[in-house]
Amino acid sequence: MTDKPFFRFHPDAYEHGVFDETDAPCAACGKPCVWAYNQHIYALPPEPSPICARCIADGALGNVVNGGDYGLHDFSFDIDPDEALAIEVEQRTPGFATYNPFIWPVRDGAPLAFLGFGEDAPLASNLGVLAAIAALGNEMGFEIAARDALIFKSLEGDTYVATLDID
Ligand SMILES: [Zn+2]
Repeated sequence: MTDKPFFRFHPDAYEHGVFDETDAPCAACGKPCVWAYNQHIYALPPEPSPICARCIADGALGNVVNGGDYGLHDFSFDIDPDEALAIEVEQRTPGFATYNPFIWPVRDGAPLAFLGFGEDAPLASNLGVLAAIAALGNEMGFEIAARDALIFKSLEGDTYVATLDID
């Protein structure tokens, strides 16, 4: 496997700074990390560290977390947790810093991909993103600032969905 695997449900994970470059040995595979995950791992302590991007992508992290069960997001998810797509998002997709637990959007049984925050370039000028933030505001009954919106997009097609993360 490549040292820098692509995560389809968090395609800009490296640009979002959730990995640090280091040659420290990975706590799961023992090889130099190259890209070490710097976000929280939700599992029983102690947290294994460092963990490389490869072991996030292939699930080898599960071999070294206490009890074997873990997640990478503080989220809720409207999909059967035993489904392969749910496991891919929960355990094999790098997380990102949020203020609160958030809803990971699902459409027609398929999770959407996390693109970033509404204020990020180039999302801030994307009409689909702006429409998604406006739709969220209509649903919530108040205007949503771009910085308070997490932006997701369908893997196929151009469906954008915003969910709320207010500080
Ligand atoms: Zn590893």
